[in-house]
Amino acid sequence: HVSMRARGMEMASKDCVQVAVRVRPFNKRERDAGSRCIISVTNNNIIIQDPRNPQNSRTFTFDYTYWSHSGFSRNKDGLFVSEETGGRYSVFLDLGQGIHDNALQGYNATLLAYGQTGSGKSYSMVGYGPNKGLIPTLCDRLFQSIKSMQDSRQCQVFFSMLEIYNEQVLDLLSKTSRSAGGLRVREDQQRGFYVEGLRRVPCDSAAQVEQLMEQGTRTRTTVATHMNANSSRSHMLIIIQLKQIFSKECITKQSNIYLVDLAGSERQRSSGSEADRLKEGTAINLSLTTLGNVISALADMALGKKVVHIPYRDSVLTKLLQSALGGNSRTVMIATLSPADICYEESLSTLRYAERAKRIQNKAVVNES
Ligand code: ADP
Ligand code: MG
Repeated sequence: HVSMRARGMEMASKDCVQVAVRVRPFNKRERDAGSRCIISVTNNNIIIQDPRNPQNSRTFTFDYTYWSHSGFSRNKDGLFVSEETGGRYSVFLDLGQGIHDNALQGYNATLLAYGQTGSGKSYSMVGYGPNKGLIPTLCDRLFQSIKSMQDSRQCQVFFSMLEIYNEQVLDLLSKTSRSAGGLRVREDQQRGFYVEGLRRVPCDSAAQVEQLMEQGTRTRTTVATHMNANSSRSHMLIIIQLKQIFSKECITKQSNIYLVDLAGSERQRSSGSEADRLKEGTAINLSLTTLGNVISALADMALGKKVVHIPYRDSVLTKLLQSALGGNSRTVMIATLSPADICYEESLSTLRYAERAKRIQNKAVVNES
C-alpha cells in the first residue's frame, strides 16, 4: 500500500526538520529475556507505554513512522500495532528521495540517525546486502540520475568520511590522520566550519562509494580496537559533495550532503580506566550533549521564546552541523527505537529528543554561482 503523501516533494516545500521514527524488531537478547513490547505505531503516531504503569502511555507524532516488526498485530496488552510498514523501499522514498532531489537542485541536505546503541542507526543508514540502507541507496540513485542526465551539465561527486571521537576528528579514508592527532576544524566566511585537510575522493559510481565506505568502516573498527574504544561512542560523518557545472548558462551549483550516524544516545558508561572515563565522559558527551542543547535552543526559538545564544561552537559535531541545524540545509532525522520494555527510559528520551528536533526551522537556499 503506497500512501498518498507527495514523497520527496514534501521536503522541498517545508523548511522544518523532518523527523522519522523507526522501531526495530526484538533482538535475541530481548526475546530470550521475555521482553514485552511497549511501543505501538499507528499512522504517524508512536505510542509508548510505561512498563511499570501501563495506564501511563504517551503519544508522539512524527512526519514518518516505521514499524519493522512483522507477524504481530496486537501486543500482550491488546494495543494495536500496525502491519509491517518498515520496508526499506518506503524508508528510502520517504527520507532519501527528497535528499537526492534536493541535491540535484543545488540544496544542501543532511540526514542524521539518532538512537541508543543497537536500535538500528547503522542498519538504517549504511546497511549493504539485502538490507540496503539509506546511504548506499542514495548513492545508487544519485549516480543513476547523473548517468541519465539529458542536458549538458557536468557533474562531479566527491566523497569524504570521518569520525568524531573524544572531540578529535579522524579521516577514515586516510592512514595519516590518526598519528597526527586528528584534523583541525576551521572556519571561514564562505564555507563556515570545515575540516582542514580532509580527504575528498572524486567518485563516478556507486560501486566506488561502496568500496570507500568499506575502507572507512574498516579503519573505524581498527582505530577503535587500537584505542581500546567502543565505536558506538563515536560519531560517523559522510560528506558527499555534488558539483554541477552548466557551461552554457555559466552556472555552477554545489550541494553538500551530510550523512551522520551519531554515537549511541544512551548515558555513557565507560569500561576503561578512571582517566579514560573522565576524558570520555567530558568529550563524548560534549558533542552529543551540545547537539541536544543546540536542538533545544532552536526548538525554543521556533516556539517564539527569546534565545540569545545557540551553542554551535561548543563541540566539533555542532560546528560541522551548523548549517544542518537552523541554517542552509534541508534536514531529516531518523530516530531509532527498540520495542522492548527494558529500553523504556532510553526510548522515551529518544522520542523527546526527536520531538524537539521536529520544531527546528531551516533556511535552505540553492547554492548557485
Ligand atoms: P546501532 O547502529 O543503532 O547501534 P544497528 O544498526 O547496528 O544498531 O542494529 C543492531 C542490530 O539490529 C543489527 O543486527 C541490525 O541488523 C538489527 N536491526 C536494526 N534495525 C533493524 C530493522 N529495522 N529491521 C531488522 N533488523 C534491524
Ligand atoms: Mg551503529
